Amino acid sequence: MNILIARIPEEGMHFDGDDPAEIMGLENDPFIKVQGDVVYSLYAQHVSEELVVRGKFAVDVALKCARCSEFFSTTVSDSDFLRAYPASKDADQIDITEDIREALLLNMPGFAVCSESCKGLCVQCGKNLNEGPCACEKSGGLDAWQALDNLNL
Ligand SMILES: [Zn+2]
Ligand SMILES: [Zn+2]
Repeated sequence: MNILIARIPEEGMHFDGDDPAEIMGLENDPFIKVQGDVVYSLYAQHVSEELVVRGKFAVDVALKCARCSEFFSTTVSDSDFLRAYPASKDADQIDITEDIREALLLNMPGFAVCSESCKGLCVQCGKNLNEGPCACEKSGGLDAWQALDNLNL
């Protein structure tokens, strides 16, 4: 989004709105699907030769669970956005799109799980264990213990 400097009064200005999902640039990301607009609530203020922009952003996304590989919906937000842009009186506008994108990407969870109790996939047959146990679950467990026993001997 662009902030028109001339429209920001000396005492500052509050503005709310949204930017299209495309600004996230994640169309081809296999782990993240953006599911709505980027919603912002910002306050811009002139401070000497700079325009200080602070506020918050949020976007609804679907993230791929690192355990079970299913997509789940969540909201990613940044509520402490704060940037200062050089703004001489003859500059027209400031494009903060890239900073919004960066701020939101930094707030994406590095290890996304659909739920703390997600059981993930069976390492042997690949079944989603959240949907119920698979046939090989038991023997897999036994093999692991047997391997440990052998090590102890
Ligand atoms: Zn999961
Ligand atoms: Zn299995």
